[in-house]
Amino acid sequence: MTSTLLPGNIVYGGPVTAREAQDYRSLGQFVLDKYKSFGEQTVMIDAVTGTEYTASFMHSRIVRLAYILQKLGVKHNDVIGLSSENSVNFALAMFAGFAVGATVAPLNVTYSEREVDHAINLSKPKIILASKITVDRIAKVASKNKFVKGIIALSGTSKNFNNLYQFDDMMDNEKFKTKPDFLSPLANKNDDVALIVCSSGTTGMPKGVQLTQMNLLATLDSQIQPTMIPLSEVTLLTVIPWFHAFGCLTLITTAVMGTRLVYLPKFEENLFLSAIEKYRVMMAFMVPPLMVFLAKHPIVDKYDLSSLMVLLCGAAPLSRETEDQIKERIGVPFIRQGYGLSESTLSVLVQNDEFCKPGSVGVLKVGIYAKVIDPDTGKLLGANERGELCFKGDGIMKGYIGDAKSTQTAIKDGWLHTGDIGYYDNDFEFFIVDRIKELIKYKGFQVPPAEIEALLLTNDKIKDAAVIGKPDEEAGELPLAFVVKQAGVQLTEDEVIKFVNDHASPAKRLRGGVIFVDEIPKNPSGKILRRVLRNMLKKPKSKL
Ligand code: AMP
Repeated sequence: MTSTLLPGNIVYGGPVTAREAQDYRSLGQFVLDKYKSFGEQTVMIDAVTGTEYTASFMHSRIVRLAYILQKLGVKHNDVIGLSSENSVNFALAMFAGFAVGATVAPLNVTYSEREVDHAINLSKPKIILASKITVDRIAKVASKNKFVKGIIALSGTSKNFNNLYQFDDMMDNEKFKTKPDFLSPLANKNDDVALIVCSSGTTGMPKGVQLTQMNLLATLDSQIQPTMIPLSEVTLLTVIPWFHAFGCLTLITTAVMGTRLVYLPKFEENLFLSAIEKYRVMMAFMVPPLMVFLAKHPIVDKYDLSSLMVLLCGAAPLSRETEDQIKERIGVPFIRQGYGLSESTLSVLVQNDEFCKPGSVGVLKVGIYAKVIDPDTGKLLGANERGELCFKGDGIMKGYIGDAKSTQTAIKDGWLHTGDIGYYDNDFEFFIVDRIKELIKYKGFQVPPAEIEALLLTNDKIKDAAVIGKPDEEAGELPLAFVVKQAGVQLTEDEVIKFVNDHASPAKRLRGGVIFVDEIPKNPSGKILRRVLRNMLKKPKSKL
C-alpha cells in the first residue's frame, strides 16, 4: 500500500481492510478462538528445554487458568500483574487475563524492589503472577501494598506473602480441569484496557501506558494485511522480553497468527544460534545489539543460519553498516526495520519490499496518519523537512494511567507527539535522525534520565546530577551521569556507579561512567540543558 498526502501535509498509510479482530466480542475471546482453530499445530517451542506446545494445549490451559483467576476474585477490568521471563506460563497468564476481561500489567523481571513498587503503584494489580526469579522480590513489595490480594507463583515460592498460591497445584486441581469452554465477557473495546506497559514518554518518571482492547485488536487487523509475510507459515525466533511492549505485542501477534514461535528466556549466544540452526528458523524479531552480534561475533560462523530469511528489527536505530555486514556474512535476504513506541501499540512505520532504503524506518502502516512539526513553533512541515514526528490511528494509547497532565502533553487532538525527530522523503519513507525527548535507550530498553537523577539526589553526598546517553555501537547508548558533589565530601566514580547498581535494574547502570562537574547547566526555569552536556561529551576529556 502506498501512502498518500492529505491536505495540511498529513501522510496517510491507507485504510485497514481486515476487520476480523476488531469485530470480535473481546480480545480474550479472539485469542481463545484462534488457538482453538489451530488445533494440534505446534505454536510454541521452548528453546532451552525443547518442549513443544500445541495450540489445543494452550487453549485448554488458558481456559483452566481463566477459571482459577475468577475463583481468586479477578473480574472484568481488574488488573493482574505479570512478572516472568519469556516462558509458556507467561503466555498462559497473559491470555487467561485477557480471557476474563482483565487488564494485564507486565513487569520487567530485572526491576529492583524500588522499581517494582513504583510500577505496581501505577497499575494497582489485584493478583500478581510471578516466576521463580522474581516471586520473592514481588512478594516483599506486594506485602507493603494492600491492593495486592494474592500472588500466583508460576514456579518457585516465597515466604514473604500470605496469600501465595502455587500455579502447578491449582492447574492440576480436578475442579478446574473439567470446566467447560470459557466465554470471555463482552468488552467495551474502546475503553477496556488490555495492557499497561511502562514508558517514561517524553519526560519524567516511568508511567503506565494504557493500551485498550481496541488498540490491540486494530493493530492485529493491520498485521493481517495481504502485504505482510504470512506469519502462519513461519518458524519465528524471539528473545525480546515479553514484558516490554515490543516483545509483548509480537507475542500476541504471533499467537493469533498461528506462528511456530521459538522463544528464549534470555539471550545466550550459543543457544540463540543453535536454536536458529535446529529449528530452521526463518524469521526473527531483533533489536540492534542482537544485529551487531550477528554482524560481528566470531562464534556466528560456527552455525548454519541459512534458513534465516527475514530479520525484523526495532526498538532503537539500526546502522546501515550493521545491516550490510549481516547481509554479506549470513546472506539474510530481507532485513526490515520498524519504528514504534509503547504508546502506539507496536510499530507505526515498517519497511517492506518496495520501501526499504538504507537507514529508513519504512513507511506508514495501514490505518496510521503522520505529520512532522517544527518542535518549537508547531508549524506543519513537508517532505524532507526535519521535525518532531506525530502519529494518529487506532493504536494510539488511551493515556497514562492516573496522569491526565502527561497524557495531555503526549496526545493533542488525537496526535501522539513522539519526541523523536525525523522526516519523510518524496516516497513517504521515514527516517529518524534525533531524539528530543528525555530518554536513553540501552539495548532497546528505556532508561529514563529523570529517574536516575532522582535516585542520585537521594545520595547525601550528591548535590546535583544529570544523566544523558553516551553513544555506543553495541548498546546504542550508555547511561552516563554528570555529578556535582556536596561541598567537602569525598566521592568516587565507583561509589556513584555502585549506588545506582544497588537501587536500579541492570539497564540503568551507569555504564557510560560518571563525570564530576562544578554545576549542571540549566536554563532559567531550572531545566537541564542536556544538549550542552552532550556537546561536552564530544570534547576531549581533559577539557571537561
Ligand atoms: P519504547 O516505548 O520503549 O518502544 O521506545 C520508543 C522509542 O524508541 C521511540 O520513541 C524511539 O525513540 C525509539 N525507537 C524505536 N524504534 C526505533 C527505530 N527503528 N529507530 C530509531 N529509534 C527507535
